[in-house]
Amino acid sequence: MHSKVSIIGAGTAGLVAGRELASDSIDTTIYDQKTVLGIPVRASGIISINGLRMSGIAYESAVTNTLRGARIHAGGRIMDISASEPVAKVLDRKRLSDICEYEAEHAGAKIIKGRRITAQMIDRLHKDSVIVGADGAVSNVATHFGMGPVEKYVLTYKAEFNVDMDDPGSVDLFFDKRAFPGLFAWMCPNAKDLLEIGVGVNPGRVNSKKAIERFLAMKEVKEMIGSAKMIDNGASVIPLRMRKKIVDPERRVLLIGDAAGQVKSTTGGGIVYGSAAAIMASHAIRDNIMHGKDLGEYERMFMNKYGSDLRLHRSINRVYSSLESRTIGRIISVMNFLGMDSFVSKYGDMDLPSLLIKRFFLRGLI
Ligand SMILES: Cc1cc2nc3c(=O)[nH]c(=O)nc-3n(C[C@H](O)[C@H](O)[C@H](O)COP(=O)(O)OP(=O)(O)OC[C@H]3O[C@@H](n4cnc5c(N)ncnc54)[C@H](O)[C@@H]3O)c2cc1C
Repeated sequence: MHSKVSIIGAGTAGLVAGRELASDSIDTTIYDQKTVLGIPVRASGIISINGLRMSGIAYESAVTNTLRGARIHAGGRIMDISASEPVAKVLDRKRLSDICEYEAEHAGAKIIKGRRITAQMIDRLHKDSVIVGADGAVSNVATHFGMGPVEKYVLTYKAEFNVDMDDPGSVDLFFDKRAFPGLFAWMCPNAKDLLEIGVGVNPGRVNSKKAIERFLAMKEVKEMIGSAKMIDNGASVIPLRMRKKIVDPERRVLLIGDAAGQVKSTTGGGIVYGSAAAIMASHAIRDNIMHGKDLGEYERMFMNKYGSDLRLHRSINRVYSSLESRTIGRIISVMNFLGMDSFVSKYGDMDLPSLLIKRFFLRGLI
């Protein structure tokens, strides 16, 4: 039985898995093609406080802002969701990567940087180790082991501006299936004086660079940015569906994080589910190496805990992606009129939409 583990990819998911496995004294090596981890930063860092606690990452020194809620814009209407307590932190993603790297190394994992793992190298590593694919949305490991495609993804483009904000406690989301098909556009106060704007769009339908130019030309965005200078920008990709297969117990291969498509289809957030998957996969590997237990336990654990919420995120994304922004605007008006904005503010959970649905049932609202 293989008692070594090779993790391909040192993003958050790979590093959290490395930390967990090495803490259990398992011989773990993490490989990444980058010579410096965490750059360039192409993703945002809005992460629920509950999710951060679950991840076990000592994230505090990476926090740049705290959020209480979100404003949802569609068809000229706004729904303001604002909790009484902070619900999420905005993290500096490079700093988060540094913390995760330190934690994995400190636990005893070896990190080999500047090494792009090819198909032949995967085969070589696979001879004497369990393989964990943590190599992001376009996963070589998933392709090599035929673990199914990602059925839906969006292309993103984001930019940062130095803007002083009076109220940096909310993120603004703009839904418009023509301008931003597949996901939405956002404005996020990364810090009190740092505004991030971004878009996520279906590939093929709209070019992400064109979409962000259109977003920058919108009145609300122009007013926020004024004459501020853009200080960083770049494109990336977010998988919005989980792959059919995330573990192959016979061949001893597991996928975690974006490589597995463990992302919330509603928002594209992947740190919480990816970290949870990394922890569960590591525990399944440990139990397999130490007690001969089935590696398939990883998928069962993950789907038991998050399966219904992943399906809900997917359904919500399908609904808003199919509706005209006018229609979403009308729904927002009705919801505001019924006081459902306050209900969502009180009981909504950015990771687990099922909690809100349960509350709706309890109140007899559905
Ligand atoms: C614009 C944008 C905004 C986002 N905003 C948020 C947010 O606010 N909150 C949130 O929770 N999530 C957000 N996400 C999603 C989040 O960033 C991802 O879910 C998360 O980073 C995935 O982590 P990962 O470790 O699975 O993969 P990655 O971070 O993609 O890491 C994969 C690693 O594998 C390496 N690699 C790939 N192929 C190879 C190879 N062949 N050999 C060696 N190394 C390889 C790469 O260099 C990389 O370091 C956002 C994403 C984007 C694009």
